[in-house]
Amino acid sequence: MSAMIAKRATPAAIAVLRQATAHCPKRKKASDGLLPSRAHIAASPTSDHNTGYAVDLTHDVLGGIDCKKIFQYLKADKRVKYLIFQGKIWSKDRADEGDRKYTGSNQHNKHLHISINEKYGHDTSPWFPWLGELTVISKVKAKVSKPLPKKKDVPSQKEN
Ligand SMILES: [Zn+2]
Repeated sequence: MSAMIAKRATPAAIAVLRQATAHCPKRKKASDGLLPSRAHIAASPTSDHNTGYAVDLTHDVLGGIDCKKIFQYLKADKRVKYLIFQGKIWSKDRADEGDRKYTGSNQHNKHLHISINEKYGHDTSPWFPWLGELTVISKVKAKVSKPLPKKKDVPSQKEN
């Protein structure tokens, strides 16, 4: 029996890495991850990476991505199902127990693992609001909401 593997990660998972890079263009990405490698699938057949609802973010304090802080901040994000970093796991449905000891073989010392709630796979709203606004993302949104300018003064296309 082989595990079902998604063809691509969910937009919410992809947004974590893209937004992190937009905030911190020089951050290291060595431990970033979306979909699992074959070895990862064999080791963790039920991982949320297999369905695209998980993302690994490289810990890089000098580059602006301090996963110790992010682990704490993201507890408030409704999209988070659970977080794993440096031997600790925090789950939304066991939030009253606080940070628990993570007993898996990979202690996640180099990256923060974020599992995303199935309800929010398409939610790409800001993952790192405390780092400030992303001007590029705001501009794209503004453009979409405005009506297109009239083409009156633009030379018309021959096809029409
Ligand atoms: Zn992971």
